[in-house]
Amino acid sequence: MAMTFDEFGRPFIILREQEQKTRLRGLDAQKANIAAGKAVARILRTSLGPKGMDKMLQSPDGEVTITNDGATILEQMDVDNQIAKLMVELSRSQDYEIGDGTTGVVVMAGALLEHAQKLLERGIHPIRIAEGYEMASRVAVDHLERISHKFEFSATNVESLIQTCMTTLSSKIVNRCKRSLAEIAVKAVLAVADLERKDVNLDLIKVEGKVGGKLEDTELIYGIVVDKDMSHPQMPKHIEDAKIAILTCPFEPPKPKAKHKVDIDTVEKFQTLREQEQKYFDDMVQKCKKVAEDVGATLVICQWGFDDEANHLLMHRDLPAVRWVGGVELELIAIATVSNDICVFCVRWENCAKISRVDTREAGQGNKMMIEETKRSLHDALCVARNLIRNNSIVYGGGSAEISCSIAVDAAADKYPGVEQYAIRAFADALDAVPMALAENSGLQPIETLSAVKSQQIKENNSGCGIDCNDVGTNDMREQNVFETLIGKQQQILLSTQVVKMILKIDDVISPSEF
Ligand code: ADP
Repeated sequence: MAMTFDEFGRPFIILREQEQKTRLRGLDAQKANIAAGKAVARILRTSLGPKGMDKMLQSPDGEVTITNDGATILEQMDVDNQIAKLMVELSRSQDYEIGDGTTGVVVMAGALLEHAQKLLERGIHPIRIAEGYEMASRVAVDHLERISHKFEFSATNVESLIQTCMTTLSSKIVNRCKRSLAEIAVKAVLAVADLERKDVNLDLIKVEGKVGGKLEDTELIYGIVVDKDMSHPQMPKHIEDAKIAILTCPFEPPKPKAKHKVDIDTVEKFQTLREQEQKYFDDMVQKCKKVAEDVGATLVICQWGFDDEANHLLMHRDLPAVRWVGGVELELIAIATVSNDICVFCVRWENCAKISRVDTREAGQGNKMMIEETKRSLHDALCVARNLIRNNSIVYGGGSAEISCSIAVDAAADKYPGVEQYAIRAFADALDAVPMALAENSGLQPIETLSAVKSQQIKENNSGCGIDCNDVGTNDMREQNVFETLIGKQQQILLSTQVVKMILKIDDVISPSEF
């Protein structure tokens, strides 16, 4: 610590914080960062593909999650390292923008880092590597566009959408029911999609889980599920042509608070007070029942609770009510009923009838962990269906698109005379990491399998040849119906390149030292 004076003579203190910090510079910084990034990618590598392993994660409060969804694994892992956090962000960005491919994007970034390290050791400047990677990613993204196919679908012909959703689900724990879950996802997305504007608002789809039952019981419900009972057991459980009043305020008689100090010394006074309270509440009920001249509510849905007395009075005034309904559900009910003021509403989900274009689904399995994983898998499938509605181009999966890009990028490298050529070649090698991981996770010899498939792609001029993970007998992904969305794959390449470039450009790491 030192005291000094500025140009106006004012004293200030300089804390020699630097002494308490560790600092890594230059190649050491890059190597440490690459090692951290690679460590994260190594964890996810074994989870990639239909034969990928699951991870079991325990939160500090003892809750256990079993998943193979890259974004969820990274989210729940308590990472301290800042570079590792960048990888977590990478997976999250892929999840946010595309919803699928969260494991693949991290595996790709890990491979790019690994190859960058080799180039750094050979003395190539990190900026040249970053530039080479950028050029290569553009070649790969353009190549993906070239090898993509348009998937034609209509409201009645949705088989192609279902097949693509099934590819996503095939690598999840729920793959036993992938066909039915994919159908549910596609129907749900189509129900809320605006096909003309090619837009889907996934907020209108709610995935609900309920303990008990089997995965096969999962069903699509056109309506809104409010898993609540009527506030009074004697209120009617089925209301046709209901007119719903949605209340976001508490709904109960006003209560005299002790701090207002009401002196009640006779029974009459008490009775008057009680009657006044009742009258006040009755007025509230009447207001609900006669919102306008002819439109009166026949059902109240309240965001807050109401006490026993209010409940009793509602029952007597023939105004059925549901209390403690969540804000999201209220919003959905409001959206669903705004265009048609008459709707059928029933509280128990078994009897829920069609209201409008808001869907809710029930994913059941005896186990809470399984329900959570089912919800995550359905989310991925919903995102894939949404992406296809936005852009109906697909590429083949099973690593075939990566292999094809690798061949294209490798060929493009020769055109660049500069040092970037090495980085472009390294990018082509990194693209092989995805098919190699798929092969390794399926118990195949990674290098042999990859080289066989690569030469087959060149020989047959077929960019659909990939890794036969499920031992079907053919590695033509077109025959196996393994599809991925073009935008998802392009995004994987773009995002992983951006993160790796960012990591390579860091040459000074200052962090607080441990005492
Ligand atoms: P991500 O979280 O990145 O989607 P997944 O574990 O879902 O990771 O694995 C996706 C990868 O598995 C993709 O490369 C996809 O093409 C591949 N894949 C999915 N199903 C099959 C299959 N039946 N055969 C071969 N590869 C498949």
